[in-house]
Amino acid sequence: MKKLLTFTFILAVIMFQTDSLEAVKENTENDVMKEEISNNHKWKQTSSEMKMVHADSHDYDVWRNFIKKTVTCDITHKIKTEVWYCELHNHTKSEVSLEETIHSYKH
Ligand SMILES: [Zn+2]
Ligand SMILES: [Zn+2]
Repeated sequence: MKKLLTFTFILAVIMFQTDSLEAVKENTENDVMKEEISNNHKWKQTSSEMKMVHADSHDYDVWRNFIKKTVTCDITHKIKTEVWYCELHNHTKSEVSLEETIHSYKH
């Protein structure tokens, strides 16, 4: 995970450098998905990814043909990670949010 973050940061820096070089020639479209200007920061979203993380499992009772059966239900968290880059201060931030909680036995 730490390796991935470092890689993302390096990638953001490379992207920024490439962008400034191209900006001299012409204003071309870049990979920025979203832009957000707040508190003197100019955040640009550089990546967004969804990840499924197994969070927990619990016992769950189901009735089948009048027989009670205990099964194990797996809980999975759908997590979204967004990386933002501020070109004014040359720093990045990442936002992690829980998008969805999924139970393998839909209940
Ligand atoms: Zn900033
Ligand atoms: Zn469950």
